[in-house]
Amino acid sequence: MEDAAHLEGILRFAGLFVVTILLPTSLLAYFGVVSLGTEEASVRADLQRAANITADTYWSAVDREFSRLEERIGARLISGRSPLDLPRELHPHMVAALRFDESGQLEAPFIIETAADGVPAVALFHPLVRQAEEAERAGAPAAGVAEMYARAALEVPWPAARSRLQFDQARMLIKAGEIDQAIDLLNRLIEGIPTQRDPWGFRVVDLARLARGELFLESSNRRRVRRGRNDLRMLVENLLSTRWVVGQGGEAAVVRYALSVLEPESTSVDWIAATRGRADERTSSLFWTGELLAEVGAIVGQAGRNRRTDGDLGWVDGERAIWVSTWWGDDLYVFALDRERVVSELKANARASVLTDSDVAAYLIAPNEPLGSELLVSKPLAPWLTGWSIVVEPRDPADILELRDQRRRQRFIIILLAVGMIGVGTITTTRLMKRELDGARMQADFAASVSHELRSPITHIRVQGESLMFDLMDSDDEREEAYVSIVRESERLSRLVDNVLDFAAIERGAKRYTLRPDNLAETVMRSINSISSAQEVRDKELDVNLPTDLPVVHLDADAISQCVINLVSNAAKYSEPGGWIGVRGRVVESGVEITISDRGIGIAPHDLREIFEPFFRSRDALARRRKGTGIGLTITRYIMRAHGGDVSVQSRPGKGSTFTLRFPLQTTEATPRRSGLR
Ligand code: ADP
Repeated sequence: MEDAAHLEGILRFAGLFVVTILLPTSLLAYFGVVSLGTEEASVRADLQRAANITADTYWSAVDREFSRLEERIGARLISGRSPLDLPRELHPHMVAALRFDESGQLEAPFIIETAADGVPAVALFHPLVRQAEEAERAGAPAAGVAEMYARAALEVPWPAARSRLQFDQARMLIKAGEIDQAIDLLNRLIEGIPTQRDPWGFRVVDLARLARGELFLESSNRRRVRRGRNDLRMLVENLLSTRWVVGQGGEAAVVRYALSVLEPESTSVDWIAATRGRADERTSSLFWTGELLAEVGAIVGQAGRNRRTDGDLGWVDGERAIWVSTWWGDDLYVFALDRERVVSELKANARASVLTDSDVAAYLIAPNEPLGSELLVSKPLAPWLTGWSIVVEPRDPADILELRDQRRRQRFIIILLAVGMIGVGTITTTRLMKRELDGARMQADFAASVSHELRSPITHIRVQGESLMFDLMDSDDEREEAYVSIVRESERLSRLVDNVLDFAAIERGAKRYTLRPDNLAETVMRSINSISSAQEVRDKELDVNLPTDLPVVHLDADAISQCVINLVSNAAKYSEPGGWIGVRGRVVESGVEITISDRGIGIAPHDLREIFEPFFRSRDALARRRKGTGIGLTITRYIMRAHGGDVSVQSRPGKGSTFTLRFPLQTTEATPRRSGLR
């Protein structure tokens, strides 16, 4: 019956365990292990996500940059400010900004001149010209050299070459100190042929204005100085607003020189700086226009063929430039971005657009460049850079496997740990549960055995008492026997009640002992005498051998007596009828020992650890046959510890047991070192 209830409890617990722990754990572990297989896919998905983000970020940055350029060009066109002005304001890598007319002729800011417009260099090989040049080089007197240039000027047939030689004459006159004469000559040149260029690409008129301005600036006459400054400023402004000739550097050089002459004189530093900036940009633009001349024709032709709506930008990836063109009325604007710099910047940005701890790498791929095998994203940079793409790849394809394995390992360890922890938890819980169940069971057993133990002496006393009361005994001997029996049973009853009450007091922590120096042997002897007549002891051979000279020990005589009675009573109880009980005393190194031995049923090794625990009763059939409550040894151990000593046991099943009470020689303690029962 009891076992069935026990089994039911275990089954219920097992069911609960399976449903609440084992099943969910197994499911979790199963899914965890299954998900290990999907790790590679998840690594790839992560990489793909990182790649998409990288490509989108990069594309947006490029879009922002080029859209800004489009906006700026549009704003210039709408506001009326020429888009050719300061091209670098439109884009830092813009190297040329040109305007063409509908027929594809370059209109601004430069002009393409045919060779026929210039002066053949051969003009300067005239013997007289060479003579004058050699004389100048040799350091001949300047007045004489001026004369020689004048004569050469009369001889050469080309008007432009003539004015150039007259300019050289003026130069020599200045050197010779003939300033007025030089100024006269320069004035004549300035009013002469305005656009003719010398074989070096200089317009003589510009050179003359420059030389005259410089002369005025050097003059001591304040009015002349002012005029010189104004002339040079005007010269610079004029030159900056005229169309320079592609392939000719004359204007650029004159502007640069004029600015350097004006700089120490000028009151307006800002004007100088701003003008120098414009001049530099124009010069570089002129250089680039010359460089890109071979390409620009095709761009203009293409823009002419597919004419777009005004203000709409067309992009062409050229050989050396990235071309942007737009129509505005009858004008076609063409802008060139330095391709090398734009591309290298875009490449650097591609690398930089990857987040630092990301496992992807981004590249800018040129048209027709082969792609890697592990491509994650490829996004074309249309419409700006046709054919170019931003490509994102895994940083290292081996990384994917490495990353996958790493994640697998991590996950596996986590699963293992979790399962391990659940396992440990389960074992601990089961143990605790078992202990609690055992405790509960033992407590229930205790209640049952106490009532049982109480009932038998009480019944016995009542029966004997009633027999006496109603005078049912036949003889005096019988009456005597009944009296003795009543006394014995009452003693047994009070021993039992003492034990239970003591146990309760100990449990409450209310039990105190008063230790006094006392004769241990006498106390033990007294106890043996008081128990010797008990039912279970009577039929046993009591072999007591206590030295009379045992040292004095601090003890609570009643408590020690209770210990001895418990142990002797157990020795008798767990022995067969007629068994032997030995009581010995001896002095050992650490104190005094009383041993109580029997040759009874003994104790199984697995029970040895537990017999001192409250309510413990062996489950062995032999032991079970004896009545008991399971608290005797608990009380004994408590009392002994309260005396600063302890109780220990040695036993072999079937051979008998020996319990040893050990007393310290000197003790002042009245409470156990380790309080509590368990
Ligand atoms: P009980 O009232 O059951 O005797 P105890 O606390 O005195 O309670 O003893 C606990 C258990 O120890 C007993 O149930 C018994 O199994 C075992 N035991 C105690 N003394 C002996 C002994 N001398 N020989 C064999 N077993 C013993």
